[in-house]
Amino acid sequence: MQYHIHIKKMASGDYEVHKENCEWCPPQDQLLPVGEFPTAEEALKSAKKQFPEANGCHHCLPDHYKLR
Ligand SMILES: [Zn+2]
Repeated sequence: MQYHIHIKKMASGDYEVHKENCEWCPPQDQLLPVGEFPTAEEALKSAKKQFPEANGCHHCLPDHYKLR
């Protein structure tokens, strides 16, 4: 599965990570590819190296969506 990060900061201060087929995915020009990962957990871990505020999308990655 390919994962992408939304590089426009959310009002909450998060950068949301999405699966490539998420229907809530923002426009392509606001996305940065995180890469191909077998699990969302690994994708999040990798995204956090660049964006410490990375958070899972509540729609496609509900298990990795953390409320602050
Ligand atoms: Zn999503």
